[in-house]
Amino acid sequence: MSWESTETYYREINEGIKHNLGGLHSAKICLYSVDFDEIEKLQHADDWDAAAMVLADGARKIEAGGADFLIICTNTMHRVACEIEQAISIPLLHIADATAHKLKDDNITRVGLLGTRFTMEHNFYKSRITELFGIEVLVPEPDERTMLHAIIYDELCLGKIENTSRQQCLEIISRLFARGAQAVVLGCTEIALLISQDHTSIPLYDTTVIHAKQAVSYALKD
Ligand code: GLU
Repeated sequence: MSWESTETYYREINEGIKHNLGGLHSAKICLYSVDFDEIEKLQHADDWDAAAMVLADGARKIEAGGADFLIICTNTMHRVACEIEQAISIPLLHIADATAHKLKDDNITRVGLLGTRFTMEHNFYKSRITELFGIEVLVPEPDERTMLHAIIYDELCLGKIENTSRQQCLEIISRLFARGAQAVVLGCTEIALLISQDHTSIPLYDTTVIHAKQAVSYALKD
């Protein structure tokens, strides 16, 4: 949604295609890029129906553009994944499923989740990972969730990378680990702009990269 992380998706998908096919190969992509200001206002007004309509309209345009499948380049807007799926006939590759498959492959059964307040507090993400994949999901404490939400919207989505915020996120990650999380999911597509595996020994699962890699594999199958 914020172009800061769309840029990461675009690069990761093209790198993946180049890695697999070599030479001058690049990805054929129909990209529908929203005005994130409109989306953010609808999210914070709790008007998920209107947000779903904006995204469903975008999804229909992508399908009309000839795409074989769809990815929504954010965790939060998977809140309306069902409505978007209903608007199109091509498959949607769900970001939580892609991440949970990777966690399962690595035998992770209890994970910490960082994301927007919507992703950490609403049910669409946590319950999907728990109910479909049997993985327990721990979220940060309420004051930590407020801090993280502000870091995402007031800094990362605006391209601001602050050392103090990095430190705060790393402390949240350490506390999730102390509570029993075996790994931490970076469940917001901008968080990896701030934190990488180089900053901590606690295993991190970057949903942006995982989702982009899944798109590459799906595009190349058959
Ligand atoms: N991109 C972020 C996410 O993965 C938050 C901003 C948004 O897309 O709503 O949840």
